[in-house]
Amino acid sequence: MFDAFVVNKDEESGKTSAAVQSLSLNDLPPGDVTVAVEYSTVNYKDGLCVGSGGGLVRNYPHIPGIDFAGVVESSEDPRYSTGDKVVLTGWRVGEAHWGGFSQKARVKADWLVPLPKGLNTRQAMAVGTAGFTAMLSVMALENNGIKSGPVLITGAAGGVGSIATAILSNLGHEVTGVTGRPETADYLMSLGAKNILARNEINETIKRPLEAERWAGCVDAVGGAMLARVLGQMQYGASVAAVGLAGGANLPATVIPFLLRSINLLGIDSVMQPYDNRVRAWERISKDLPLEKLDSMTQIATLSDLPQLGADILKGQIKGRVIVDVNA
Ligand code: NDP
Repeated sequence: MFDAFVVNKDEESGKTSAAVQSLSLNDLPPGDVTVAVEYSTVNYKDGLCVGSGGGLVRNYPHIPGIDFAGVVESSEDPRYSTGDKVVLTGWRVGEAHWGGFSQKARVKADWLVPLPKGLNTRQAMAVGTAGFTAMLSVMALENNGIKSGPVLITGAAGGVGSIATAILSNLGHEVTGVTGRPETADYLMSLGAKNILARNEINETIKRPLEAERWAGCVDAVGGAMLARVLGQMQYGASVAAVGLAGGANLPATVIPFLLRSINLLGIDSVMQPYDNRVRAWERISKDLPLEKLDSMTQIATLSDLPQLGADILKGQIKGRVIVDVNA
């Protein structure tokens, strides 16, 4: 038997409820690899799945947790053997398939990646989906060429923003972080940010479609009015990696920055990344993210902390990353 955080839905009222429950291996969904999970993390999507489901959960009862790292317990796939350390992000695990808020998980071998050398399971989840996405964003910006000058990171004190700040600073870029929480300025500076902007300095309805050219690149975790404004402030030919919608899904922008400044808007999706890209991104993380900075970015939680943490992340109140020690 093992413990898992299970969300149920009452069909009549449509209300969801969640609790830590004891399950057996026979309860797990089909898959070719069974993993003894060590750590998972709390992401924005998990907040939705822990609460109302947010339209993401495909079936109840459900175990959220869109990522995990652990040790292979049994495998029917020749690529993995008992004892191998693995990491999983994406593939709608924790949404359409039971996820990582559980001491055991059973998944398709194709969804896993061997843990890269130099990372342990806890560090891998300090990075987690948010950090993996931050690295995909950096790689996308690099592929399109990062200009010379300051690189902007929106939602900087959140999970994606914190790790993007640490990676880009470590790669020698001058990072400006945008945050709605001025009290996180010291934290962001400790991750390598050179300048901090208050959210309301950027997060305004655009007045003019083009403003002075400021940013050599941008990782945007916020979307909405903030992204619209940033588009008009990018340097000629610069790229924005659009990651999230913490500030809204509507984009009240014009096409002018694309037409007159040749701006690239690069959509980043961490869920359906092919295996080779996932391996490449995890290898880059193990090389280019200063691991000694992970401790200051993370807090550790248990399965029973999840209802509160799920609500907190939806309100944008989490600083950095929350690791879930599923065995604590
Ligand atoms: P977090 O909640 O950790 O961070 C989001 C940050 O955005 C907050 O910390 C806050 O930063 C800022 N923010 C929150 N609400 C608002 C608002 N109303 N207006 C402006 N800024 C706001 O989430 P993550 O970093 O984990 O994820 C960020 C986004 O990226 C989410 O939308 C998530 O769904 C998405 N995502 C997308 C992925 C993909 O594959 N494309 C993968 C992972 C995440 P601050 O306090 O510094 O202002």
